[in-house]
Formats: sequence, structure tokens, C-alpha cells
Amino acid sequence: MVSKASRSGNGQQTGLSARFFQKLTSGVPGVLFVYWVSSERDSHRCPFISEHVQSLFGIEPSDLSDNADPIFAMIHPEDVDAVMESIRASADTLKTWSYRARLMLKHGGYEWFEVNAEPERQPDGSTLWFGQFHNIQHYKDLEQSLRESEAEFSFQAGFQRLIARLSTEFINLGFGTIDQCIDELLRSIGLFFKVDRAYLYCFTEDYSVMTNTHEWCRDGVPALIDTQQQVSIENFHWWQEQIEGMVSGSRVVFIEDVDRLPREAAPERALLQEQGVSSMFCVPIRVRGRVTGFFGVDSLRRRTWRLDQADLLIIVSGLLSGALERNRLEEELLNQSIRDPLTGLHNRRYLMPRLDEMLGRSNRRGERFALAIFDIDHFKKINDSIGHLGGDYILQRFADILVSQTRSMDVVARFGGEEFIVVFSAVEHGDVRQLVQRILEAVHEESFIFDDEEIPVTVSAGVAGIEEFVDRPATPDALIAGADYRLYLAKQAGRDCLVDVSGTLRI
Ligand code: GH3
Ligand code: MG
Ligand code: MG
Repeated sequence: MVSKASRSGNGQQTGLSARFFQKLTSGVPGVLFVYWVSSERDSHRCPFISEHVQSLFGIEPSDLSDNADPIFAMIHPEDVDAVMESIRASADTLKTWSYRARLMLKHGGYEWFEVNAEPERQPDGSTLWFGQFHNIQHYKDLEQSLRESEAEFSFQAGFQRLIARLSTEFINLGFGTIDQCIDELLRSIGLFFKVDRAYLYCFTEDYSVMTNTHEWCRDGVPALIDTQQQVSIENFHWWQEQIEGMVSGSRVVFIEDVDRLPREAAPERALLQEQGVSSMFCVPIRVRGRVTGFFGVDSLRRRTWRLDQADLLIIVSGLLSGALERNRLEEELLNQSIRDPLTGLHNRRYLMPRLDEMLGRSNRRGERFALAIFDIDHFKKINDSIGHLGGDYILQRFADILVSQTRSMDVVARFGGEEFIVVFSAVEHGDVRQLVQRILEAVHEESFIFDDEEIPVTVSAGVAGIEEFVDRPATPDALIAGADYRLYLAKQAGRDCLVDVSGTLRI
């Protein structure tokens, strides 16, 4: 019976021995089988397969004894071709058939199985395999979770490396300026988190207006920074609430799906949709304990965010906050050293190197400029009549006049006591005369009132232009000395006038 079964390849039908084999295999994990493929490879069947096939796939062993199709129908569509190929290869080479594929279980759902079977060619050219297949889903799960924890580890490690690099750059200002550093940070963070935009906004003191100061966009993503200058948030009530949350509660603003913003956020939703934003994440920036703006990222497609993403973005905003705080401190220190505290004008320490630079440019490119010294007339008397504080007030008012009568490209400095210097850049001789004249006129028109008393104030000025230096080298000191000499001439001429290369001009 047994020999007949193996010869005919039909052990399933041979009563006693089939039961014997089933008993034998019932305690063996996995599915033991004999699989037969005709020499033409156009038919196949399982002369024997253990009854586990029933409990696993709901297929009776007898369903496979004439045609193995039912068990092949359980193979995942994506795996079928490769399984068939592995059988062909084993039949051709008579090497072990060993393969992994997903099979549909009786209760639905695919799980991974591995088959191992030894082929044996039969005298008639057909092939028999003797082997087994078993469930390896738990290995696959383990493999998957290993892959995930490896990916997780490399994500965390990558983030830490990135933050370490950026903080070093910030400490050393390795990219040059703070602005370049911020741009580089936004770019790195944007690429790391695979977002489409990363940006920095600052608020006005009262949080009513915000301005986009730095922006990074992925290639092909339109920039918004030009449209996001001095944006009033008056009509965005929902956004105002979010800002309130950022300011008082240090909360992040997280919009996972712009389309699902609450009804009261209709204006915000419309704006974000217009900008093509699907989801966004904003974290407040704090400088000296005060929220001064926020850092944010946009995604143009809806995306799921990792749960810990908020924490990582908060670390980034902490880095930005620290850098901005330090930068503000440095700017203040720098300002203190180059500005006069009484008038807010630049001081001599700032003026002299600027003058040197302008002389250099003039020598190289022939750029014209002129320098004027202004001195308040009889200032001692003013001090005597209204006191030192009154004198200070007059100095401040005159400084304001200088600022309002000059352009941003000019340098305006308090040179000492009641003496001021203005360097007029890119001007011709005739124009300077007019510019200085306008300043003296403005002093005439201004009413200087201190303690309800109108104080008469006049100013004298001496002007020297760079074009006067043809036969001697122009230096900052020589230029100042030239203007100072003419100031002396103006005082001699009775004050309240200007003296330049072409003589005295009285207002
Ligand atoms: P002149 O018309 O010749 O320029 O006469 P003057 O009185 O302005 O001449 P002088 O340069 O001798 O006097 C300048 C005075 O300015 C002397 C000094 O007490 C006063 N002064 C200098 N710095 C300050 C300051 O910061 N505040 C005040 N209130 N007075 C100052
Ligand atoms: Mg003086
Ligand atoms: Mg004076």
C-alpha cells in the first residue's frame, strides 16, 4: 500500500497509510507535503499534505490531491509570479525549493510562510518535492520592528547631529552673519523634516503686526516672504487667539489639516489654502523671556506628524531664541560703543573708520563726498541761561534736525560737546552748499522752547569737499581740519552762517 501510494503519488486515497501519515505529521509544526508537477509542467497536485492545511487555510487535503490550485490561490498576488519562478528553478536544477511568500489565512489576512522542499525527478519526467512550509510571521514582525527601531535610532541620531552642528555654527557664527546662520538653520531643518517651507516671523511690541524675516522654500515651492511684510492680524481672530496662547502659555500652533480648521478660523483657512498650505507647525520664539516671534514649518500636502515632532521643533526654536537673544545683546553692546547716548547719533568712534572707508572708495572710484562741521553758537550762554539740562535738550533737538535733513546714506555724528559732523556722500560741491544751508534754515524755523521759554538758537558751519584735495593727500584728519578752519572763519564772520570753498553764505 505504502509503495503503491508513493508510486502513484496518491497517498491521500490509501486509507490506512494516509491516516498513518496524518497521525505522524499531526504533531509536527508546519505543513508537511508531497508536491508533484507533471513533466510538461501543466498540472500539479499534492499527493500528500498534512491536515494543518485545513486549520490554517480552510482547505481539505483531499481538495489538493488532484489539483494544487486551491493552495496556490492563497498566495498573495504580488508574490505569485516569484513563487512559480522558484518552483521552476528548483525543478530545472533539482536544488532545494526554498522560498518565502505571503499566504491568505482561513480567517482573512496574509501572513508570511517559508517553504523548504527537496525535489526528486521521477522516471516519467515529472518532479516530486518532499518538504514542509511553516509560518514565519513572527520573524517578519521582529525584522520589521528591528528596521523601525533602527530607523528611529538613525532619525534621533541625525537630529542630534544636526542640532549639534547648528548650535556650533551659531556659537561661532560660522556662516558669517546671524542672518546667514538662520537661513542655514531653516534650510537644514526644512530638509530634515521633509517640509516645504521653514520660516521665522517677528511681532511688533503689541502683537498686532507680524513680519516674515527669514524663509526657506523647497525647490519649486513659491516664496511668500515678500507678501508677508508688516502683515496686520487685525482680521484674523482665531490666529490672534493662537498668538495669545504662544505668548502667555508658550503653546505651539499645530494645524494637521488646514481643511479641518474650525469654523471661526475661516479667514485663516482661506489664506492658507490660497498659499497652498495643507499643514503647519509654529513654535514661539522667546528673547529675554518675551515672545518676539515664531518659527514655523509648512507642508503643502497633508502629512502625518510624528508624535515627538513638537518636542524636536521646540528644541529648534530654543536654538533660534538663544541665537537671537545673543545677537540682540551684541547689537546693543555695539550700538552703545558707537552711539552717543544723549542724542542717539553716531559718535567719533564710528565716524572715523567710516570716513576712512569713504576716502578709500573716493580714491579708487572717484566718489565725491563732503564733510560739514556744525557748532551751536554761544552755547555756553545757553547753558548759563537755561541750565545744563536745557542745554542737553537743545543738543537733542538740533540732532533731530540733522537727522531729518540728511539722507540715510549720510553719516551724522556728534563729534564732541556741541559740535556735530555730517558726511554727505555722493554729492557735488554746489549741492553740499545747499544741503548745509537747508540745515541752518531749519534751525531758524524751529522754535526751541524750554521751560515755556523760547530760546534763540543759531548754528555755524564749515564745509570741506574731497575734490579740494588735489595737491595733498586727503586723510580724515585733514578733511576735518579743513572744515574746522572754515567753521572758525564762520564764527569770525559773526556766526549763524556757513563757510565753504566759495566763501561765506549767510541765511
Ligand atoms: P561759540 O559760538 O564760539 O561756539 O561759543 P560757545 O559758547 O558755543 O563755545 P564753546 O565751544 O567754548 O562752548 C561749548 C560749551 O558747550 C562748553 C560746554 O560746557 C558745553 N557743553 C559741552 N558738552 C555739553 C553737553 O553735553 N551738554 C551741555 N548742556 N553742554 C555741553
Ligand atoms: Mg564748540
Ligand atoms: Mg559753540
